[in-house]
Amino acid sequence: MILDKLARFLLVRQIRQSFYTWDAERLQHHQQKRLGEILKHVSQHSPYYKELRTNGWDGSFASLPLLSKSELVTQFDQVNTAGLRKADLFDFAIRRERGEPLGLYRGRYSVGLSSGTSGIRLPTVLSASERWQYGSLLFARSGIPESIRQPRVLFALRVNNPAFMEVRFLGVSIFHADYTRPIEDIVRLINEKTLNVLAGPPSLLRLISQQRQQIDHPIQALISYAEVLDDKTRQQLQADFQAPLAQIYQGAEGFIASTCRAGSLHLNEDVVLVETLESGDTVSHARRLVVTDLHRKTLPFLRYQLNDIVEFNPEPCSCGSVFRCIERIHGRADDIFHLRSREGEVIRFLFPDYVTRSINQASEEILEFQAIQHNLDSLEIRLHLQPNAARTDIETRILHNLEYWAQRVAGRLGTVTFSDELPERNSNSLKLIRVVRRF
Ligand SMILES: [Zn+2]
Repeated sequence: MILDKLARFLLVRQIRQSFYTWDAERLQHHQQKRLGEILKHVSQHSPYYKELRTNGWDGSFASLPLLSKSELVTQFDQVNTAGLRKADLFDFAIRRERGEPLGLYRGRYSVGLSSGTSGIRLPTVLSASERWQYGSLLFARSGIPESIRQPRVLFALRVNNPAFMEVRFLGVSIFHADYTRPIEDIVRLINEKTLNVLAGPPSLLRLISQQRQQIDHPIQALISYAEVLDDKTRQQLQADFQAPLAQIYQGAEGFIASTCRAGSLHLNEDVVLVETLESGDTVSHARRLVVTDLHRKTLPFLRYQLNDIVEFNPEPCSCGSVFRCIERIHGRADDIFHLRSREGEVIRFLFPDYVTRSINQASEEILEFQAIQHNLDSLEIRLHLQPNAARTDIETRILHNLEYWAQRVAGRLGTVTFSDELPERNSNSLKLIRVVRRF
């Protein structure tokens, strides 16, 4: 047990150091070595990749086809290297979600189900060593400032996720809360357990912030994940709690990025190999991501295409890390608004981040919003304002901002209607997605 703790401590320290001290050459060498091991493993143990080999794949990374989420779900039984069946894992995960105390699958594998905003749920599997690695990584790069002596963390999750099973380690205590519980219960938990770090989706952090008068001790750090965090929400949360906010960017497909000491979001390039694809953004240079997990072998993620669109910052970060910096996460490719061109013949793309900026830069009096594109000609803006706010002026400013961005992409907005309804959460994932395309 003591040896195990020591090994974990050393691993966490090494993961922290590699983030800041590796140079580009060391990183590339590491990536190539890990890739070689993974490709060799899947060529021998994954029926899917074995078949690719017999059908002409030369075993190299460069010639691997991209894999989408729906393909991975369809081919799950062939892709995984442990002979696991998707149907059995679904059954297992659903029984556990309903409260059966099932432990590990076949005594070895932790099983999760991705929340599936698109409606497609992907089972995720970690072996014991992958769990160990992943837990250490999350711990090392969680964004909890090293200056906090005894972090006591609220970790809000919708369902039990295998990566978050540990509750106490190296002086950090983690308390899980289901974020669909009433906010009063969560605030009570924060007080009862004196939690000083709050980790959850930004929509939940905002709800807690509205009740912050009820919290009887200082909050020392915030961690945001699972939903897009826009600049305004980040500033608001930091000001409300007088605490730094770190972002982590992770999902079923891996722990993609975490926040450095200087507050920038960096790709975890020693853990995931990230390639980028053209996304159709004509205003900035947002890209679609393709990720390859460099460690996981049970369910390999190789050239796996994400739905997310991300903009990079080409400038080096002051923290000294050579891992690439993410300027902002724009949202899901499925939610890019489709506008008719001025002549009406082609489709122009308006990215979620520009829609968000158009709205939340219009006024300080917007409490909640959501923009829904119902079809090519119809856009609905839901606006929940402070009492006595000048609604008509705010709506005019939003319209003006949206028209500016539509013009930048050479498109037409169509009809824009405003309502005072509250945003709707995605019915599959329960995430709050502020910019939604419904067709
Ligand atoms: Zn940095």
